[in-house]
Amino acid sequence: MELPNQAPAASLVFQTMLAHGPLSRAEIGRRTGLSSGAVTKATSPLLDDGWIAELGRRGGEPVAGRPATLVAVRPERASFLGVKITEDELFGVLTDLTARPLTTRRAALDSRDVGSVVSAIARLVKRLVPAQGPEIHSLGVTLSGDVDRCTGAVHHSPFLNWHGVELAHLVERATGVRTVIENDVRALTAAEQWFGAGAGISSFVLVTIGAGIGCGISLDGRVVSGAHGVSGEIGHLPVGAVDRICTCGNAGCVEAVASTQAIVEQARQVTGDTALTMEDAVQFGHDGHEGVRAVFARAGHAIGLAIASVANLVGPERIIISGEGVASYDLFEEQTRQTFVRQAFGAAADCELIVRPLPFEEWARGGAAVAAQTLVAPDRTRRATT
Ligand SMILES: [Zn+2]
Repeated sequence: MELPNQAPAASLVFQTMLAHGPLSRAEIGRRTGLSSGAVTKATSPLLDDGWIAELGRRGGEPVAGRPATLVAVRPERASFLGVKITEDELFGVLTDLTARPLTTRRAALDSRDVGSVVSAIARLVKRLVPAQGPEIHSLGVTLSGDVDRCTGAVHHSPFLNWHGVELAHLVERATGVRTVIENDVRALTAAEQWFGAGAGISSFVLVTIGAGIGCGISLDGRVVSGAHGVSGEIGHLPVGAVDRICTCGNAGCVEAVASTQAIVEQARQVTGDTALTMEDAVQFGHDGHEGVRAVFARAGHAIGLAIASVANLVGPERIIISGEGVASYDLFEEQTRQTFVRQAFGAAADCELIVRPLPFEEWARGGAAVAAQTLVAPDRTRRATT
């Protein structure tokens, strides 16, 4: 199952319709910069092959004397699967062509061993795909770590303790479904770019806070992957907190003061309670415990420095802050914004900062969005493994 025309112009037209919903051909031309002839050439085979449909005419907007016909993607034409691997659980989603979730499922992981995780993914996929359902185009699997989408290998994933795992190949063999893998934050950024708070925005940054601090960067409509599969690692930007050692072994990283674990450790120090949890820390913060509030403020300052650095480097139109940490974001927010405004240079401070809670199901949808990209932009598909 492939698009009938894989020329760059046809991909661009299809992607524009995916991101913006029903459009007239003239609007597609305006948004893509293509001539009306090129738009017609791109849309005709898509219409013939059932990928898009004409929605009827919209009154009152004459184009060359006729009301404009709207064309839109047919969501039921293809389905995708997305799976997000976390430390102890899998989250799966079945979506239509527009990455709209049709079914979501989760499954506990009893082991982080590669073979067990791959088998668990295969079982989850079986539960997601209905017996008489739509044809599945592909599956996107996402996880945190150094993940090479091009080769389908996980170079290193610290939380699973995986090194050099040919994950795409293994999952493909276990499920029988074409598989692409991606770093989870970049996949979430892809979903936001096409179908979420980044749609229609040329450059934006997604920052996730929680167990780790990550960042996906979308520049001129493309999610930055980095030449070596590493980019957007703002959790390891040095922000001068030299009294704290990071999980990466260096001193002074953002994560060393602002990750969930770092906040818990510092809150334990200031309260003297060695069994304190993140929930307790949040409670202390809300109850006005000055020492714990200072811990959150310090974390907010580190996050503010990190996002100001990103804004100064790439000048995004919008920064989306998400991740499980946003549940207690009220304790960071003031300091994060203050530091950001102070440190962002000139017009970079005009960048809009929005907070958007994205549950784990949304992260699974990121996998489906990455799978959808292999249909629309096949140049980004994994190279065939030998
Ligand atoms: Zn670090």
